[in-house]
Amino acid sequence: MSDAFITETEIEGAADGPLAGRTIAVKDNISTEGVRTTCGSRMLADYVPPFDATVVERLKDAGATIVGKANMDEFGMGTTTETSYFGATENPAAPGRVPGGSSGGSAAAVAGGDADLALGSDTGGSIRCPAAFCGVVGIKPTYGLVSRFGLVAYGNSLEQIGPFAETVEDAAALLDVIAGPDERDATTREDPDEGAYVDAADGDVDGVTIGVPTELLDGAEAGVVETFWDAVGQLEDRGATYREVSLPSVEHAVEAYYVIAMSEASSNLARYDGVRYGHSVDGDGNWNEVFGRVRDEGFGPEVKRRILLGTYALSAGYHDKYYAKAQDARAWIKQDFDGVLNDVDVLASPTMPVTPFELGEGIEDPLRLYLADANTVPVNLADLPAISVPAGSTDGLPVGIQIVGPAFGERAVVRVSSALA
Ligand code: GLN
Repeated sequence: MSDAFITETEIEGAADGPLAGRTIAVKDNISTEGVRTTCGSRMLADYVPPFDATVVERLKDAGATIVGKANMDEFGMGTTTETSYFGATENPAAPGRVPGGSSGGSAAAVAGGDADLALGSDTGGSIRCPAAFCGVVGIKPTYGLVSRFGLVAYGNSLEQIGPFAETVEDAAALLDVIAGPDERDATTREDPDEGAYVDAADGDVDGVTIGVPTELLDGAEAGVVETFWDAVGQLEDRGATYREVSLPSVEHAVEAYYVIAMSEASSNLARYDGVRYGHSVDGDGNWNEVFGRVRDEGFGPEVKRRILLGTYALSAGYHDKYYAKAQDARAWIKQDFDGVLNDVDVLASPTMPVTPFELGEGIEDPLRLYLADANTVPVNLADLPAISVPAGSTDGLPVGIQIVGPAFGERAVVRVSSALA
C-alpha cells in the first residue's frame, strides 16, 4: 500500500457524472460511511462512521472512485504529516523529504500517481502547504463555500475542505462538484457569483492587477523568493501588472492563529472521552482515571500540547489576555486584506517561505514549524480563498506560489493561477 494512505478503499461512485472514471484520495478526517476515519490518531484508529460527509456524497454522485483515505497530521495539527499515529509519508517530488501537512497524504497521492485527485482540509494552510511541497495544485475555498458536515472538527472558525489536482483546471472541476450550500452545515452560503469554476481556468490575465504584500516576502528563503518572482514575471508576460502592497497586521498572524486554533481544538477535542466512541480502556469505574488514561494513550504529543495551551488561553483570567486579543488581531488582519483587495484583483506570495524539510528534521522544533505557516494562516484568519500552484523549483525542490482573492473570488484565483500552468 502507498504510504500516502492510511486505508486503501474501493468506493465506487455513480456510473456517470463529471468525475466518472477519476480516482480520488480523501483525507482521513472526512467521514466515509462504513470505512474507518482515523484523523491520523490512535484515538480514532478503529472508528467507523455511520454516515458520509456531504462532500463524499457529492463525489459519489459525480462518479468518482475513492481509492484511499489519505494520511495526515493527527487531527490536522502539523505541517509535515509526521504527527500521524500511522507514520510518515514521503514526498514523491522530493525523496527523503516531508510532503507538507497536514493533508500530506492527499498531496502525495496526487503527486505520486496513486489518485487523479484528492480532498484535503485547510485550517491554516493544510491544503496549500502540501500542494506547494509536492508540486501540485491545491485550493482553500472561501469560508462557507464548501460544506463541512462530516469533517472532524479541529478549528471550526478557520477550516474548509478543498481540492488537490495536477492541474488548475482539474482542481477547479473538483471544486465545482463539492461547492455549494448544505442544510446540514449552517455556515455554508451560496456563491453570490454562481458559475462554473472550471470555466474560469482560461489563463486570461490581460489587465489583471496583482498585489504583492512585502511582509509575505520578508521571512522567505532567497531561492523561494527568486522562483516566486519568476512566476510573477510569467504573469506579466501575459498582460498582468503587479505592484507591491503592505499588510502591516500580518506580523501578528501566526500568534493569533495559534491562539485561536488551539483554543478551538481544546474545546473540540473534549468529546474524546472513550465512552461514546474512540479509544477506550478498561477501568475500575473511576471516571477521572479512565478519562485521563484514554486521552493519555489516545492522543500524541502535538495534540496534547495544543489541548493544554488552548485550555490555558481560554481559562478565566487569561481569556482576555490571549483569546480576546487574538480575535482583535484577526479582525485587524481581515480589515487589512479587505482594504488591499479593493485596490488590486488578487494578491500573490510564496505559499511557503521554505522548501520541504527532510523527514525528521523539523518535528522536534514545533516553533520552527509554526513559523513556516506565516504566509498561509493570514488567509484563514481573513476567511478568503487561495490557491497554491507550482511556481518552479530551487535546488531541485518544488516551490509554490499562492494567489489570494476576495471573498467568493474563486474564479479570479483560478483564472490567474491557470495562466501559470
Ligand atoms: N500547520 C497548521 C497547524 O498545524 C495548519 C494545519 C491545518 O491547516 N490543518 O495548525
